[in-house]
Amino acid sequence: MPLMPAKPEYPHDHAQCSSDALAEAQRICARRGVRLTETRQKVLELIWGDHAAVKAYDLLEQLSGPGRSVRPPTIYRALEFLLENGLIHRIESLNAYVGCPQPGGQHSSQFLICDTCSIVIELTGADVARAVADEATSHGFEITRQTIEVHGLCGPCAARHAEGAPAP
Ligand SMILES: [Zn+2]
Ligand SMILES: [Zn+2]
Ligand SMILES: [Zn+2]
Repeated sequence: MPLMPAKPEYPHDHAQCSSDALAEAQRICARRGVRLTETRQKVLELIWGDHAAVKAYDLLEQLSGPGRSVRPPTIYRALEFLLENGLIHRIESLNAYVGCPQPGGQHSSQFLICDTCSIVIELTGADVARAVADEATSHGFEITRQTIEVHGLCGPCAARHAEGAPAP
């Protein structure tokens, strides 16, 4: 069952949104017979802290506390696992990660990325991917990976910008 999250840029019950995402991740891992270890789950939770892209460095800082230091390879292995199982996406232009609202399957998506608040909106409409694939075919080009990342301002940031108010 695909998750149907509220549009991230609008106010919504994010506690519900992130707990749904974590429950879905548990189900996917159980179905695949892979283990969502404590560290993996913690990393996923932090990524689902909101809809903004998170850098590995920030995850490292948030996971390390007084008397607890987490080493970078631990984080990278957890991220690798979450990527492999389709639970998160890597935003290449930011070198950061976001939770996938329709996790567990292979899909090519497009990302709208706000340059002010880093919110990432995932579009899963197949039309864009198909249009690119068709163009590629007409050039005799074989696609191995499609990454479409679109930068700009999200709705609320654009509205604030229009009012001339400073960004948060
Ligand atoms: Zn949310
Ligand atoms: Zn996705
Ligand atoms: Zn924004």
